[in-house]
Order: sequence, then structure tokens, then C-alpha cells
Amino acid sequence: MAKIVCVLYDDPIDGYPKTYARDDLPKLEKYPDGQTLPTPKAIDFTPGALLGSVSGELGLRKFLEAGGHKLVVTSDKDGANAALDREIGDAEIVISQPFWPAYLTAERIAKAKSLKLAITAGIGSDHVDLQAAMERGLTVAEVTFCNSISVAEHVVMMILSLVRNYIPSHQVVLDGGWNIADCAARSYDVEGMSVGTVAAGRIGLAVLRRMKPFDVKLHYTDRHRLPADVEKELGLTFHASAAEMVPHCDVVTINCPLHPETEHLFDDKMIARMKRGAYLINTARGKIADRDAVARALKSAQLAGYAGDVWFPQPAPRDHSWRTMPHHGMTPHISGTSLSAQARYAAGVREILECWFDGRPIRDEYLIVSGGKLAGTGAHSYSAGNATGGSEEAARFKRE
Ligand code: NDP
Repeated sequence: MAKIVCVLYDDPIDGYPKTYARDDLPKLEKYPDGQTLPTPKAIDFTPGALLGSVSGELGLRKFLEAGGHKLVVTSDKDGANAALDREIGDAEIVISQPFWPAYLTAERIAKAKSLKLAITAGIGSDHVDLQAAMERGLTVAEVTFCNSISVAEHVVMMILSLVRNYIPSHQVVLDGGWNIADCAARSYDVEGMSVGTVAAGRIGLAVLRRMKPFDVKLHYTDRHRLPADVEKELGLTFHASAAEMVPHCDVVTINCPLHPETEHLFDDKMIARMKRGAYLINTARGKIADRDAVARALKSAQLAGYAGDVWFPQPAPRDHSWRTMPHHGMTPHISGTSLSAQARYAAGVREILECWFDGRPIRDEYLIVSGGKLAGTGAHSYSAGNATGGSEEAARFKRE
């Protein structure tokens, strides 16, 4: 029997939904690169239901209890005496979502004497101290591809929203106004602009594909170059580094994981290399951008806009400067947790758990750390080290 601690975000303020806006989800056959969707033996939830909040329990309770396991679900993850810290001591498995990350710091991992497996219900395991996980011999797995397209759609939405000045224009309507000039004074067409992505992995490539029909010039940088036929098909210009790419771009979108190589990549120096009036979209991880450098660049008009859904830490303190800086289009961390994405990552978590309990290998593409080293997708996309430093600040949201 295993104890599983699952950290999920709170239910909606008005309570767990009784009905939904739509009756079903489109059925996807496979991911764009041919990877199969999650293949658990069964699921105990209705796709399209809210699974990522506490009452949704990722649809896991029936399955886990039928196997004789103990499931504890909580949203209480930060600060002194959080439920996570009270429960983690004898847990074999911790499940967490990047949207409401249970930061598995070295201190927490040391306290979790029985911990063997950390599952990310989503993509991006930077909330786990991967260095400590390797040293302890933990397995870290995530549901690769489950929400990559969800995020790519969000990136396109945010590029268009910023460039066309959608959010302030919508506000004019809400305010009962008709101030055309106020809306138009910061509104441009995307057509003809140069758009560059930092990383062309699953999300970055999907963004490039989705932006192509807007008749823009496409740029990218990545540690590994895309196949020549893909570069040709999309008309891509490759740059050896982000620093070399950004001076050429009107719009930069960040789509790499957070790891020691990318932490604070977008600092004052990098932003100064961008064109004046460029837009920066970051749906990858908040810490890839330097918080204060971004706010300064918006105030000085070096950046015309910044948007994304990722912050550091999460939840962001109420006085986080990104809440109030000018010309931003921030949302809470939501792009990868649409109801469509939740159905995929809940099924993926179930698949990983079934493999774990059956003693079958977890798919290589789901692995980040295994056998004391980076493995699978982790070995390709991450570098060793820890990116959780400073996460204790997340407790401020609870206290404020
Ligand atoms: P992939 O693993 O498919 O792609 C990541 C890409 O980043 C890889 O191509 C990798 O290169 C590249 N990369 C890594 N380090 C660098 C670097 N220093 N410079 C340039 N490129 C680099 O992952 P996804 O595209 O699916 O997801 C990317 C990230 O997006 C996740 O790690 C997560 O942080 C974030 N995300 C956010 C979500 C949200 O809800 N906002 C949801 C899902 C993901 P290579 O492998 O070639 O070495």
C-alpha cells in the first residue's frame, strides 16, 4: 500500500461546478509528432470535468483506493505547518501541478523519507529540486505533450492581444466608453513582423506553425536545430542563441524549460538587446525573466508589452510588480490547464501510476529524472541543478 499526496489548486470560489459550458471535448487521435495520447487501462472521470482542483482529485480516488492505497488531496502547500509538510513524511508519491506548484525543495525531499516518485500533472518539473531528486534516487515524471498545444494556442492569443491592443480596448467597452483613439494609439498589425521563439520544442514549434499563416517572418533558437525540411517549410531563420536572435524580432516568445541555463535569461542585458517597442510573451516559466527588469522595461517603453501566465513564485504575492506594471496582459497560470488539457494530464498521471504499481517502465518521454540522473525528456531538455530557490516566498500570498 502506498500513500499518495496530491496537491491541487482550490475549487472555484462559487463551488465545484455542477454544469459546464460545453457538453463534450473533441476526440484527438494522437499528438502532432505521432506520440500517442495517454493510455491508462481505464479512467474514472468524465473528460471535460474540472479535475485539476481539489474536489476533482484528478479523477484518481476510486482507482487508488481500489488498489488499497491512501490518497490525500490538499491545496495547502506553502508556509509553516502546511498540510503538504504534515503529510509528506510517509508519502511514497507526490503529485503536483505547475499551476499551483508544490515546491519540492531539498529540505522537503529530505523530510520525505518514503518518497520515491514525484509526478507533475502537466509539463515542467522545475518546482522539484532536480539536483536533490537525482541525489536521492527519486523518479520524476511529467505528462509530456499533454498541454503543449494548449499553451501554443495561448501564446498566439497573447501575441495578437498585445500587438492589437485588445485588453485595454475591451476595458473601454466595459467602462461604457467609445474612445477609438485611445484604443488605436497602441494598436498595430502582426502581419510583416518578425516573431522569434526561444526554444522550438513541442510548444515552440507549434507556435511557429500557428503563426506562419499570419505572414510574419519566423525566427528561432534552440539547443538542437530542427530538421532542414521543417526549417524550409516554415521559412525559419535559426540563431545560435537568444542573445543573437532578439535584436531581429518584434515579438519574442519564450518556450524553453526553466533550468539553471535559462534562469533569468531575460534580464536587463537581454532586454536591452531587443528592439525598442518589442513584445515579450512568456508562458514557459516566470523565473526565466527577471521580475524587476521586465517591469523596468515596460515603464521605460523599451518593451511595448509583456504577457504570459507564469510567475515566480506561484501563487504570486499580491504586491508582485507584474500585477501593476504598464502594458501587460498577464493571467494567472492557466494556459496548460484548460478542461481539454486536464483530461489528458489526468489520464497521463493515471498511466504513470499504473506503470509504477505494476512494475512496468514509465514511458521514456515522460521521464525527467530516473536512476540518479536526468532521463528521457529530462536528459534532452533540462540541465542538472536546482531552480526552486526563493520558492518560500509563495507563502506570502496565504498570509497577505
Ligand atoms: P519540450 O521539451 O518539447 O521543449 C523544450 C525545448 O526547450 C527543447 O527543444 C529544448 O531543447 C529547449 N531548450 C532547453 N534549454 C534551452 C536553452 N537554454 N536555450 C534554448 N532552448 C532550450 O517542452 P514543451 O515545448 O512541451 O514545454 C516547454 C516548457 O513550457 C515546459 O518545460 C514548461 O516550463 C512550459 N510549459 C508551460 C505551461 C503553462 O501552462 N504555461 C504548460 C506546459 C509547459 P533541446 O531539447 O533541443 O535540447
